[in-house]
Amino acid sequence: MPLNAFAPAAFVLGLIMGSFSTACVHRWLNGLTLIDPPRSFCPHCNTTLRWWHNVPLVSFVLLRGRCGHCGEGISWRYPALELLSGLWGLALAVVYGPGWPFVVLFVLGGLLLTASFIDLEAFLLPDVITLPGAVLALFASTFLLGPGSGPDAWLANGQTALWGAGLGGGGFWLLRLGYRALRGGEGLGLGDVKLMLLIGALTGPQGLPLTLLLAGITALLAALIHMARTGQGHQAPIPFGPFLSLACMVHLLWGPQIWQWWLHTVR
Ligand SMILES: [Zn+2]
Repeated sequence: MPLNAFAPAAFVLGLIMGSFSTACVHRWLNGLTLIDPPRSFCPHCNTTLRWWHNVPLVSFVLLRGRCGHCGEGISWRYPALELLSGLWGLALAVVYGPGWPFVVLFVLGGLLLTASFIDLEAFLLPDVITLPGAVLALFASTFLLGPGSGPDAWLANGQTALWGAGLGGGGFWLLRLGYRALRGGEGLGLGDVKLMLLIGALTGPQGLPLTLLLAGITALLAALIHMARTGQGHQAPIPFGPFLSLACMVHLLWGPQIWQWWLHTVR
């Protein structure tokens, strides 16, 4: 399939996955299952949504961010998740083209986005996403990916996926122990440790330094902005999962280019 047909198709596919992710986030936060109730509904008036109220992004714009039945505002997080998911599909299509890397990264990116938006809201990364995600990432990296020669040469493969998961998850587990010994209390959640199993299995050990650097810088910037805007001190909680996920996704798309840029700018 030529790229000028594949890329728009991947964008739409991403929007659809994003719509499913919003349902997962909303239902998880409200203690509902994915099958009951079977159709999407307005959380305010409980009206079952018509299909034209539930088209990713389009409905949000047409309804000006309100429920079509009761007029209650809909959180900006839902269309933001749909848009990010669509852009993820589009960017993957442009970088990798059709093939196993696209399929594997598309699905696991969807899991990272879903977990991140739950973390933003609940300060918690659900085991039901991170643990199966880590197993899936290990399986996919080992049996479906590389060692490639194109852009996918950058990804983990059968030789490196287990190392990446072990170093990522194990490293965070040690950090967590260290933080507890030095400062007391929870600096890093166990959820972040499990998330790093997933991320490490995708990036391999070679991708961990850049991913952690990007996550640290963006989380620090967000914390500073958050402190300036709310006037809260440095105790204001910031979930780390979304920054780890975003950094991992940026790395999977443009890791080699970022390294190149870094080497040329610094040296
Ligand atoms: Zn409503």
